[in-house]
Amino acid sequence: MDTVLIVGGGPAGLFCGLQAAGVGRRIVVLEKKNACGRKLLITGTGQCNLTHGGAVSEFLPHYGDHGTFLRPALMNFNNLDLIRFFADHGVRTITEPQGKVFPESRKATEVLDALLNCCRERGVEVRCNEPVQEVRREQDGFLVRTEASTYHADSLVIATGGASYPATGSTGDGYRIAGSLGHTIAPVAPALAAVMVDGYPFADLSGISFAGVTISLFRDTKRVRQHTGDLLLTHHGLSGPGILDLSRHILPGDELKVSFLPDMNRDGVAGDLNARIAANGTRLVRTVLAEYQLPERLVRRLVEMAGIPADMTAAHLAKEGRKHLITLLTECPFVVKNLEGFEAAMVTRGGVDLSEVNAKTMESRLVPHLFFAGEVLDIDGDTGGYNLQAAFSTGALAAKKIAAGTRR
Ligand SMILES: Cc1cc2nc3c(=O)[nH]c(=O)nc-3n(C[C@H](O)[C@H](O)[C@H](O)COP(=O)(O)OP(=O)(O)OC[C@H]3O[C@@H](n4cnc5c(N)ncnc54)[C@H](O)[C@@H]3O)c2cc1C
Repeated sequence: MDTVLIVGGGPAGLFCGLQAAGVGRRIVVLEKKNACGRKLLITGTGQCNLTHGGAVSEFLPHYGDHGTFLRPALMNFNNLDLIRFFADHGVRTITEPQGKVFPESRKATEVLDALLNCCRERGVEVRCNEPVQEVRREQDGFLVRTEASTYHADSLVIATGGASYPATGSTGDGYRIAGSLGHTIAPVAPALAAVMVDGYPFADLSGISFAGVTISLFRDTKRVRQHTGDLLLTHHGLSGPGILDLSRHILPGDELKVSFLPDMNRDGVAGDLNARIAANGTRLVRTVLAEYQLPERLVRRLVEMAGIPADMTAAHLAKEGRKHLITLLTECPFVVKNLEGFEAAMVTRGGVDLSEVNAKTMESRLVPHLFFAGEVLDIDGDTGGYNLQAAFSTGALAAKKIAAGTRR
């Protein structure tokens, strides 16, 4: 009987295990923590945004330059397959209007339980407290050493996740193991990370969020990217899906310009504001601004930042102050100090170099019978369920090749 060892009991490892299970194969998942799926349990703030609606072709751009690598995995097992799998295992899902898919119960525990139950039903051995420390190639497979035991594997799947939120068990071990087997590791860095801002003026406004603002990314005064999404003001800078999704492209020293009025361009806002000021000369500047439905505390702060006294009426607002206000409303500038580190980033960019992995099987191009699944690969997706779908789809594709029983 072939033994398939899977290193890591996260969504990628568990799903690979249960899909690979079958006659003639012993499947063992080795998990280093005392329980599987620690990270899965905190996804979507405990509600688990497990995938997204839409066609596979719409998924690919959400993984930046590495979307094409994922095409075979997503074609083999797509979002509808995932929804069907969970429905078959008692987890009904709902799709939000913007496309995010959650379990109807809004409980990540339900998703994890379904995976673990299915592993049990299909005879997958899940062994916790088994941190894999070393893997060596042998003539007929692999020698896998954990703290307590030594295993022989005919096939090996590395599904150790990335290096973010290390308390959940993902501490980058897979990079070390893959490296020891000859694989190149594309430099890793935190991704889907909040941005810390130099001279941040909104620390006391932390918690205020905005739907669908426009965020422009500037490098060396050139606009390199623009993104529309939700924004959250934090104690030290900016977060929210709009920033997290853009964070893949952000470097320290870059400038972000936020338009709090994304439906109008600068000229439109200028014309509109001038008309409102002309019609409301006796009202306070901030009262006129309040008509834009922005949070009052933000309006007060913008007025202050523009150097306009709080008690100034619209009729007294000079041209300079007006210009400054328009800039703050449509191109509010933030200089990036740095991105949040691995402790708080949602995913890891970089990882096992994709050119050394067969996209059609997830098998190593360097080492036969060695497979990769999930975030350990050099793949990171946007917020919205794309990372979990990638973990499930790559796990399923590796399992397909393993189950095809090509070894013997
Ligand atoms: C706060 C937060 C919220 C998130 N929300 C979402 C969301 O809503 N939707 C979404 O799509 N994505 C979300 N993500 C991202 C998503 O959780 C990950 O992309 C996904 O969990 C990756 O799955 P994985 O199985 O590859 O790795 P992981 O889930 O990291 O699992 C890897 C497993 O391997 C184990 N392991 C590591 N090293 C070893 C070793 N040496 N020996 C044995 N076992 C080992 C770890 O303990 C861990 O259990 C979120 C991430 C975070 C941090």
